[in-house]
Amino acid sequence: MNEYDSSRMAGLMKKAYGLRLVASPEDADVLLLNTCSVREKAEEKVYSELGRFRKIKKDRPDIIIGVGGCVAQQEGERIQKRAPYVDLVFGTQTYHKLPELVNQIRRERVNITALDMPEIEKFDHLPQPEAKGISAFVTIMEGCDKFCTYCVVPYTRGHEISRPVEDVLAECRCLLAQGVVEITLLGQNVNSYKFTLGNGTVCDFASLLYQVAELDGLKRLRFTTSHPLDMSENMIRAFVEIPELMPFLHLPVQSGSDRILKRMHRGHKRAQYLETIEALRKARPDIALSSDFIVGFPGETEADFEQTLDLVRQIGFDSAYCFKYSPRPHTPATRMKETVSEEVKDERLQRLLALMREQSQQALKAQLNKTVEVLVERRSRTREDMQGRTPDFKIVHFTGKPRLLGQLMPVHITKAYGQSLRGEPILA
Ligand code: SAH
Ligand code: SF4
Repeated sequence: MNEYDSSRMAGLMKKAYGLRLVASPEDADVLLLNTCSVREKAEEKVYSELGRFRKIKKDRPDIIIGVGGCVAQQEGERIQKRAPYVDLVFGTQTYHKLPELVNQIRRERVNITALDMPEIEKFDHLPQPEAKGISAFVTIMEGCDKFCTYCVVPYTRGHEISRPVEDVLAECRCLLAQGVVEITLLGQNVNSYKFTLGNGTVCDFASLLYQVAELDGLKRLRFTTSHPLDMSENMIRAFVEIPELMPFLHLPVQSGSDRILKRMHRGHKRAQYLETIEALRKARPDIALSSDFIVGFPGETEADFEQTLDLVRQIGFDSAYCFKYSPRPHTPATRMKETVSEEVKDERLQRLLALMREQSQQALKAQLNKTVEVLVERRSRTREDMQGRTPDFKIVHFTGKPRLLGQLMPVHITKAYGQSLRGEPILA
């Protein structure tokens, strides 16, 4: 999501002032730091990065430094108190005003904090997106109304708002016209997408998927993130009926214990999650699954944690993001008394990661000797190679030429590495 936002910011500055991206902060006239505050670690990085910016400004006092995104939204003027060389603090919903704000700073050399949260008017003010490569993100909704007790997102990104269907389709068309063939629809909870059309009918997420899939030039469609509570039957059907919709689903569950799920305010039980997965696998047997987990949530006992391990074993995930619980400002979980010690969090994280590594390895090894369809996305870091993804999102390296970019090609899988595959392209 931040990557998407950053690229839109770059687009705005280019259109307004002809500014272009440079390779290193030392060369920039305007330094914008787009920030994440979902866990404390990400937030700490902001200040260490700002320390680096400060040195640059010492040599070149005319440069403008701006901090945007979730930490900016959360901390506001406190950022300039701690780092007075920051000229501009802008929130998650104000970045469309960047050109105007930067101009004001240039003229008046004032410090500005812009944190209002108007109803995602920002999208109405952004220039057309510029494609970078053959795969692109498109934000379809912003914010979140779920208020999980550990999560800062509803406070930093605001209420849930869906973009108009026509705007989403127009953005997709614009990217497809530039050679994009894969689109990933983005939002905190894409499957609670809801937009009421002029005639009163409601377009939900499943219906949006069908419409995007129809667009000319689209080969692959993906989305992230979705919430277990909003996994409608229509969505499951979409996995069967839409050939462009790839068989991969990131569906965060956070914990396998009902007690913890309740304390997290996730709104569903373990059994419901398992039922959803079962229905999905019945509908689309080749679907690969990934998830997010938090270990050491306040009150999590060894028995609760074992429930999480058990759920992981029962389902079998291709991959997962596993986090230690991190207390965030404003969130109800920070007031819960039964905290888990750092040692126990560490230990649980290691156990969960070990199990996940095992499962990822299994998922990769299961591809050996199969022929899979790979969308060629980029050159590998190793020079001679190209790299792409299977329908179920596994990375495949193979020997090939850059002219294959954007093409779908059959690849015979010969090797499974730690996190990716190698194969031989089958040339027609
Ligand atoms: N909207 C998505 C994900 C939002 S944040 C969802 O609900 O699934 C991405 C992930 O960060 C979450 O799924 C969660 O696993 C993790 N996360 C969020 N807040 C956290 C916190 N306070 N401590 C540790 N992990 C957290
Ligand atoms: Fe955060 Fe929960 Fe909303 Fe996801 S659903 S963004 S975890 S509050």
